[in-house]
Amino acid sequence: MLRIGLGYDFHALESGKTLILGGIVLPFDKGEKGHSDGDALLHAVTDALLGAAGLSDIGELFPPSDDQWKGADSGTLLQKAWKLITDKGWILENIDCVIAIEKPKILPYRQQICSNIAKLLSCGKDQIFIKAKTGEKLGEIGREEAVCVWAVCLLSKN
Ligand code: MG
Repeated sequence: MLRIGLGYDFHALESGKTLILGGIVLPFDKGEKGHSDGDALLHAVTDALLGAAGLSDIGELFPPSDDQWKGADSGTLLQKAWKLITDKGWILENIDCVIAIEKPKILPYRQQICSNIAKLLSCGKDQIFIKAKTGEKLGEIGREEAVCVWAVCLLSKN
């Protein structure tokens, strides 16, 4: 059995916050506003995986209204969700992601980000891929006011 999942996340960028994508801190003068660490990439990946397994979504599992998730490490949230999914017998085939962000350039960090997501999911680095697009200076993305991520994944089960 094969199942695909789609995840999406959007975070406003604010001065003085830390920009974290895929668990990696990127050098930039703005970072994600959010109730957790705001890692839009890990949030989108978490939702894609949960959706493929038909289990839940990140907002239901880790509600923003619950203080225990305030400032939470998104890597920990991803691992908690992934445990629920693997407990049901699902195996990861691959994850592919698009990050829409004007700055900074993501390409120099691709290997590091893919390796970190692979480590969080205990899978091979070649099962994870990310790519980035700018907003061509248009809209919230282009004005460096936001970051947006789409993630798709494929899970399998015998
Ligand atoms: Mg989020």
